[in-house]
Amino acid sequence: MTSSIQDIDVFALCKEHASVQGQLPLSALSRLHGDLIHTTDAVSYHVSGSVDDEHRYLLHLSITGTLPMNCQRCAEELSHPLLVDNTLQLVHTEAELDDEEEELNAIMSGKAEIEKIVGSKNYDLLNLLEDEIILSLPIVIAHEVCEQTLPTSVGEKVSPFDALMTLKNK
Ligand SMILES: [Zn+2]
Repeated sequence: MTSSIQDIDVFALCKEHASVQGQLPLSALSRLHGDLIHTTDAVSYHVSGSVDDEHRYLLHLSITGTLPMNCQRCAEELSHPLLVDNTLQLVHTEAELDDEEEELNAIMSGKAEIEKIVGSKNYDLLNLLEDEIILSLPIVIAHEVCEQTLPTSVGEKVSPFDALMTLKNK
């Protein structure tokens, strides 16, 4: 099921202004497995290609869904909302990645430069989607407000008897 998007002519996708979309099973995102509680769910992806007025090959990516992860503060489960919406420019060679003249033009014209990637006729779109998901993750995954407070360790627990003794000694 996922193998089809691992071998895609992304330049043709742009030329034809075509798009691919579907479900991406979490089980296919092997680089994320270490951070996921389970991999039974899937996220949705939509990738569309276009060629703009400046003959740039553009790939628009959107990925939505939730990732089952552990909160790094309270260690409870957390559904991390995934919302990737990015546009990348496809180039043919590594050399085109650092086109200084183009970068300068972008700065001069006040346009934000689009991130470039090297495309191919048999491009691994799954790998790119996985990259984008990883890049979208915050450094610390945590609830905005944790519901559970961490249980105090047994050694620190104050017994009612001890509390009573403290009161008496006052
Ligand atoms: Zn938490």
